[in-house]
Amino acid sequence: MSTKPELASRLLKGDRRALSKAITLVESSHARDREDALELLDSIMLHTGKARRIAISGSPGVGKSTFIEAFGEHLIATGKRVAVLTIDPSSSLTGGSILGDKTRMPLLANNPAAYIRPTPSGSILGGVARRSREVIALCEAAGYDTVLIETVGVGQSETEAATMSDCYLLLLQPGSGDSLQGIKRGIIERADLLVVNKADGALLASARESATQYLRALSLMPERTPGWQCPVVLCSSTEKTGQEDICARIDTFFEHALASGAFAQKRHEQILYWLEDETIADLVDRFKRDKTIQARYAEAAKQLKTGRSPARIASEFVSLLLNSPSKP
Ligand code: GDP
Repeated sequence: MSTKPELASRLLKGDRRALSKAITLVESSHARDREDALELLDSIMLHTGKARRIAISGSPGVGKSTFIEAFGEHLIATGKRVAVLTIDPSSSLTGGSILGDKTRMPLLANNPAAYIRPTPSGSILGGVARRSREVIALCEAAGYDTVLIETVGVGQSETEAATMSDCYLLLLQPGSGDSLQGIKRGIIERADLLVVNKADGALLASARESATQYLRALSLMPERTPGWQCPVVLCSSTEKTGQEDICARIDTFFEHALASGAFAQKRHEQILYWLEDETIADLVDRFKRDKTIQARYAEAAKQLKTGRSPARIASEFVSLLLNSPSKP
C-alpha cells in the first residue's frame, strides 16, 4: 500500500489505480482506515469542485445504462473525461448490483477517458450514498470534469442524488403521460432537464406525444432552478440520436446557473448537506461503536419494563449523554 501523500499525488495526476485505491479506502468500514481516508480527503479538497455534477435518474428499464453509454461516449468525443457512479440502495442488501456495472456499460468501461466506479458491495454504515460525495471529490481531484451520478430505484436515492448534483436529468420513456409513468410529481419537479428516451422506430410518435404532455405538466410546476424552464428533449440511446441536443441544453443550463448565481448557491448547499449528513452519520457511528455508551444504553433500555414510553427514555438518555459525553 502506498503512503498517503504518494497516493494523493498519484491521484492528482489522474492515475486510475490510485483513484480505485482511494475509493476503496474511503469506502472501508474499518475504523482504522477512516483516519487515513480523512487525511487523504483533506489533502485533495482544494483540487475538487471543478466537474459538472449531473444526476441521472429514471425508473428501471427506462434505459439509464444504455443512455449513459451513449451520452458518456458523446461527452468523451467532445474532449471530456467522464466518471460514472451509481447510488443503488439495493446493493447493501444484495452485496453488489445485480449486474456488474462494467457489464452494464461495456463501452465506457473500456474507454480510457471514462471511469466507472463499481457499486460498493456489502453494507456501509449510514447507507451506500454516504460515501458518494467523497467519491465525487476523489474523481474530481483525479481530473474527471463530468461526474454522472446514476440513481437506481426510487425515493431516497433520488433525493440523495439531488443534494450532490448541479443538474438533475430525468430520463423517461414513451408512454401514457397521464399517469406520468408512476413517477412521482416531486421527482419531475426536481428535474432541470427531461429526456424522453427510446424516441426511435415504432416508439417515435408516442415519444413526441409524451414530450408534449410533459411540457404541459411542467408549465404548471415551479422551477427548480430560478429562471430556468426545464426543457424536454427526445433521444434514442440505441440509435445514438439526440445526444448533441442534450449536451447543448446542459451547456445552456450551466451558463444560466453560473450567471444567475444558482450554481454557487447549489454548491454552497451541497457542501452544507455533506457536513450535516456526515455529522449525523458520525454521531450514530460513534454511538454504536462506543462500549460505554452501549452499556449505558442497555441500562436505559431496562426502563422499558417499568412502562415508561420509549420516547421519554430516549429523550432522557440523549440529554444525559450530551451533558456527560463519552470519549470517542
Ligand atoms: P435501465 O434499467 O434504466 O438501466 O435500462 P437499460 O439501459 O438496461 O435498458 C432497458 C431496455 O431498454 C433494454 O432492453 C435496452 O436495449 C432498451 N433501450 C434502452 N435505450 C433504448 C432506446 O433508446 N431505444 C430503444 N428502442 N430501446 C432502448
